[in-house]
Amino acid sequence: MITLGEGNTPLLRAPRLSERFGVELWLKWEAANPTGSFKDRGMAVAVTHAVEEGAHTLVCASTGNTAASCAAYAARAGLRAVIVVAAGAAAGPKLLQVRAVGGEVVEVEGTFSDAFSHAEELGLQEGHVLVNSTNPDRIEGQKTAALEIVEQLGGAPDVLTLPYGGGGNTKAYARGFGERGTLPRLHPVQAAERATTVASAIRIVEPVHRAELEQAVADSGGAVHTVDDDAMVEARRLLGREEGLFCEPASAAGIAALPESAGAGERVVCVITGHGLKDPA
Ligand SMILES: *Cc1c(COP(=O)(O)O)cnc(C)c1O
Repeated sequence: MITLGEGNTPLLRAPRLSERFGVELWLKWEAANPTGSFKDRGMAVAVTHAVEEGAHTLVCASTGNTAASCAAYAARAGLRAVIVVAAGAAAGPKLLQVRAVGGEVVEVEGTFSDAFSHAEELGLQEGHVLVNSTNPDRIEGQKTAALEIVEQLGGAPDVLTLPYGGGGNTKAYARGFGERGTLPRLHPVQAAERATTVASAIRIVEPVHRAELEQAVADSGGAVHTVDDDAMVEARRLLGREEGLFCEPASAAGIAALPESAGAGERVVCVITGHGLKDPA
């Protein structure tokens, strides 16, 4: 088992924001994972499986956090990590995390979709494994966050809200809650300007899991929300000042859409996906 101690993150009560929004708000603090984002949950499973299959190289396309996670777990497993990013698109500290543990960064011109196509191609080579969220092991690992929430709260909340980039994480939560037979209303939140948002972790124009995400959201009675950058930046400021948590801009998306997602007095879990030190610009 290739592990760095991922998972079992705190579920924190948010008393001041609860009062402000008129809900019972809990924060799933995923920045407490080893590389500072939830990506470590799925990476532990995907890399363990890759080792089992005899892989020597891990490949991913990333806006930054998958990269940081892939490189760390590759180092832990003694494998090579090749990280494909759209030139200029990943936050500097995330690439620093990659290089600090010996990962190799390949920059391609274009968008995240171009980086993903390139990574898919590399992943077809002998001994290479693609560890993007299209790798089913990633989703299996990430679903553990939902299982933890059910344990920590003694049941599912009324509402789950989280940022929506490619949609893999929403899919993972839907699966985790589904396996416990208790699905909260899912309220994933995307950036209004997907191509140019300041929230680099969700700067993805074509969400690869869109169809399944929309099905899961509909089954849950929830909705997809869209917020602009000002709202995310303001939500991040609020989370810092009112609750003492410093997250990256993308991670505050769920807070930004709280008024549309939850009714008075409802129990809400907002997933805070990554640490503020990762995307300071
Ligand atoms: C990856 C990531 C997201 C988006 O998750 P998807 O599974 O692509 O929807 C949101 N926030 C942070 C911090 C991330 O690293």
